[in-house]
Amino acid sequence: MENKEDFSEKVIFPVGPKAPDDIAKNFIGTVYLHALVPYDSPLKHPISHVVFEPRCRNNWHKHPGGQILLVTGGRGWYQEEGKDARELHTGDVVEILPDIKHWHGAAADSWFAHIAMEADVLAGPTQWLEPVTDEQYDKLR
Ligand code: MN
Repeated sequence: MENKEDFSEKVIFPVGPKAPDDIAKNFIGTVYLHALVPYDSPLKHPISHVVFEPRCRNNWHKHPGGQILLVTGGRGWYQEEGKDARELHTGDVVEILPDIKHWHGAAADSWFAHIAMEADVLAGPTQWLEPVTDEQYDKLR
C-alpha cells in the first residue's frame, strides 16, 4: 500500500495534520485535515482539504446547508442512504443537497482526498449519525 508521503506528492493541496479529536471521533480510520478557508472566516464559507487513509470513512451524516466535494486524489466512495455508492476519482464533483444522509471516504486499497466546501454554513452544523459498519463498507469494491 502506498504511504502518506508518496500520496501527498501527487496532491496539489497540502495534507494537513491528523484531524482533532472532536472531528476524528466521527470517522473510522485516520483522517488528515488542512483548512484552506477557516471556519470563522467572514465569508462564512469554510473550505478544507480532507485526506483519508485507505478504509477511512466518515460516519453517516447530514449537512443542513449542503456540501460540495471536489476530489483531489486517489479513489474513494460517496453514498447516499438508500442508493448505490458512487466511486470517486480525481476531478469528480459531488453536490450534496441539504439534509441528505450520506457518507464519504477512501476505498479499501487507496488513499483518497477531497476539498470539502460547506455550502450554507449559517443553516447549522453537521449532524453526525451512526458509523458505516464494516459489513456495509466491505460490500464496496
Ligand atoms: Mn458530507
